[in-house]
Amino acid sequence: MDARAHTGERGDPSGPTVHDTPERLLLREQVSRFVAREVEPNADAWEHDGRVPRQVIARLGQLGWLGLQVPEVYGGSGVDPITNFVFTEALSRSTYGGFVVTVLVHTDMASPHLVHAGTEAQKARWLPGIVRGDIMAAIAVTEANAGSDVARIRTTARRDGADFVLDGSKMFITNGVHADLYFVAARTAPLETGSRGLSIFAVEKGAPGFRVGQVLDKTGWRSSDTAELVFDGCRVPAADLLGNENEGFRALMRNFQRERLALAAMAIGNAMSSLALALEHARTREAFGGALWQREAIRQKLALLDARTQALRAFAYHCAWLDSERQDCVREISQLKALAGELANDVAYGCQQCHGGIGYIRESAIERLWRDARILSIGGGATEVMLEEAAKRL
Ligand SMILES: Cc1cc2nc3c(=O)[nH]c(=O)nc-3n(C[C@H](O)[C@H](O)[C@H](O)COP(=O)(O)OP(=O)(O)OC[C@H]3O[C@@H](n4cnc5c(N)ncnc54)[C@H](O)[C@@H]3O)c2cc1C
Repeated sequence: MDARAHTGERGDPSGPTVHDTPERLLLREQVSRFVAREVEPNADAWEHDGRVPRQVIARLGQLGWLGLQVPEVYGGSGVDPITNFVFTEALSRSTYGGFVVTVLVHTDMASPHLVHAGTEAQKARWLPGIVRGDIMAAIAVTEANAGSDVARIRTTARRDGADFVLDGSKMFITNGVHADLYFVAARTAPLETGSRGLSIFAVEKGAPGFRVGQVLDKTGWRSSDTAELVFDGCRVPAADLLGNENEGFRALMRNFQRERLALAAMAIGNAMSSLALALEHARTREAFGGALWQREAIRQKLALLDARTQALRAFAYHCAWLDSERQDCVREISQLKALAGELANDVAYGCQQCHGGIGYIRESAIERLWRDARILSIGGGATEVMLEEAAKRL
């Protein structure tokens, strides 16, 4: 049943968009095939192990999909945001959200910091490895006492000779255990300066004074590793400051747009896969003398969830287009993230309900999609925070 969630067969809610080109259609088809053949049959073991194997990441690198947003000079292909959205959406049709987030944190949430703010020397040093998948990236902003309110982070970075010295800790960091390179937000000016006192540092695994703290056990995204990071007098060469000192907040806000598009793609992929599974189940499951599909209440519920998903998908492509046109789209992308996180939960819940008892059993894909959906309205900008961002711009 799992393998049918992303096959594009009859009833599959994903279809053409007005933005399709032969290249984008080919990319969607190739990524879908990869998900069907190389992810879905194998990822139960990754869920069990709490990580995606490095050879799978390397395979994505060989296929060129870890460098879609990286300029060609560093081994990437520098595609536009719409083409990138095609990739993130197609990957997100996997019923294993932990796999998807492992990849998208690397490609869309962490490494864009280096692409946007890195010096030539920093890019030449790390980007080729990131594109190949030899260097796994993470983004470390959240702290135990500062999540939504990024301006309140307390990890400090104090200049000492040719180094900065980092002290503090980070919480809930995706790829936290197995990454090789961490983009860490730290305070380079007193707390009172708020958002004007933050900077971003590239910290390599093995830096003195840096260690992975508690490994966190989660409801969903089981194949993704999530950890606390500890910086205890961690020395980072001043040359590894990313962008200008005290301008980190602006860089974070800029990258949050890309991050939120990727999270919206995850939500849409989750919703489409949930719907595909529920349609299949409703058509084949017999109760009270016929298939569930013959019940008006069931098919109308699925029709409405499908309509909401299609509408959101169209809005998501519109947001990717605004981004590709370099228009200010903070309002739209904040609204998209809010809608997408809530919708994924509504769809997964409704589709799980159609499955009855089997939808509550660990072996069923819909049960995993329901668990994986939960974080999508919390992580990377909770719904309420996104709506505040949108409201400010109405
Ligand atoms: C599995 C997982 C992976 C993650 N990966 C990363 C990562 O790789 N890197 C990273 O830096 N962070 C990561 N995070 C952190 C994530 O982005 C934060 O958890 C999220 O931003 C919310 O912050 P918080 O947990 O501190 O909640 P808080 O900020 O304490 O908010 C709690 C709740 O209060 C509500 N709320 C907050 N602000 C407002 C407001 N203004 N108005 C109304 N309601 C509000 C929301 O419902 C919110 O969910 C991850 C988290 C999880 C669980």
